[in-house]
Amino acid sequence: MSSTLDRSAVQSEKNVWQMAQAQLDDVAKLIGLDASVHAYLRVPKRVLTVSVPCEMDDRTLRVFEGYRVQHNMSRGPAKGGIRFHPDVSLDEVKALAMWMTWKCSLVNIPFGGAKGGVICDPKSMSMRELENMTRRYTTEISIIIGPEKDIPAPDVYTTPQIMAWIMDTYSMQKGYSIPGVVTGKPIAIGGSLGRDKATARGCLVVANEAMAEIGRNINGATASIQGFGNAGMHSAELFAEAGYKIVAVSDSRGGVGNPKGLDVGKLIAFKQETGSVSGFSGGDTMSNKEILECECDVLVPAALEKVITAENAPRIRAKIIAEAANGPTLPEADDILFDRGIMVLPDILANAGGVTVSYFEWVQDLQEDFWDEDKVNERLKRKMTKAFSETLEQSKKLKVHMRRAAYVVAVSRVAEATKLRGVYP
Ligand code: GLU
Repeated sequence: MSSTLDRSAVQSEKNVWQMAQAQLDDVAKLIGLDASVHAYLRVPKRVLTVSVPCEMDDRTLRVFEGYRVQHNMSRGPAKGGIRFHPDVSLDEVKALAMWMTWKCSLVNIPFGGAKGGVICDPKSMSMRELENMTRRYTTEISIIIGPEKDIPAPDVYTTPQIMAWIMDTYSMQKGYSIPGVVTGKPIAIGGSLGRDKATARGCLVVANEAMAEIGRNINGATASIQGFGNAGMHSAELFAEAGYKIVAVSDSRGGVGNPKGLDVGKLIAFKQETGSVSGFSGGDTMSNKEILECECDVLVPAALEKVITAENAPRIRAKIIAEAANGPTLPEADDILFDRGIMVLPDILANAGGVTVSYFEWVQDLQEDFWDEDKVNERLKRKMTKAFSETLEQSKKLKVHMRRAAYVVAVSRVAEATKLRGVYP
């Protein structure tokens, strides 16, 4: 099927914010979205830019730039992670915040969307520098976050320890402990069991559903994974546990592949020891490019945006793409993949397990009542399966790819809430 995307909105430089807006414009046309609601949803509700002064170990002062964007709160408090990365930009954070709105809506949790980011290179910073920067950034954004307003979480290069510093900083300023201000915390201070693997577990649930839909057996099926952070590493582990052969993995330094399957336990130990999967002896060296194009049943992009493009989409040999990363596929690549019969499980579906268990964590914090891991995993599975079947149903009904279908479900829900609430005053 050819695209109805407004390509003028997707410039050649492929700014992710323009890409996010173009995805909304595309679905607005498809569902005949009310023009005023469309205009309302096309821009973020609130954008905060902060300067984050931080004393470095050598006593010099560095001023980092940070952001917190709240895209929408029609269905509940804003929710979304914080990214520490040298390539963070305001436009990227705006796009990620909008995607959070659709993601929370698709899995039907009572949150809107937000995202935060700081332009920095955490790999080159000491723990002390990272802590100081995190605490000052938290202080700067504390005017708009809170358990009833906007709840941050981990994202690229942010960890449970960083969430603990955020929780502590916010709590110190209020004078009492407020665990519900942030999710993805360590268990000891109000985190949820199962949160660490939730993104990967959710991704596996929908990948399995997709495999069943295309009539493929999981046992002996193959998966390749681009990115080996929280989402990628746990995907390798959980997909292997479920019966997939992991034939290729990579991280920012390079990759490794083995058609007979990599020993995931050894691979994770190697990554923890050396900081990378590159150089692992249980397979052959592979580039990131080769990993995206290798033969497999399920390809899991689990790193950054814009890796699947019109240029490489014709060469992709996976049957299913499960987007553990946010925004890995460009709109023009979506159309090529759809025409080629490759099923793309879009980010707002495939990686929604993380925010779903974040929601469970927030509920547990507010109720001061903690669940066992089976309950978390069972409820996560239910949420993911429902979102998958609602998306598939729209995809079949409207004869559109899974991203468009997911947007139909997600945007319609947010539009309904926005319309019902009306515009104040
Ligand atoms: N950063 C994750 C995401 O992009 C998790 C967000 C959250 O748990 O709030 O979905």
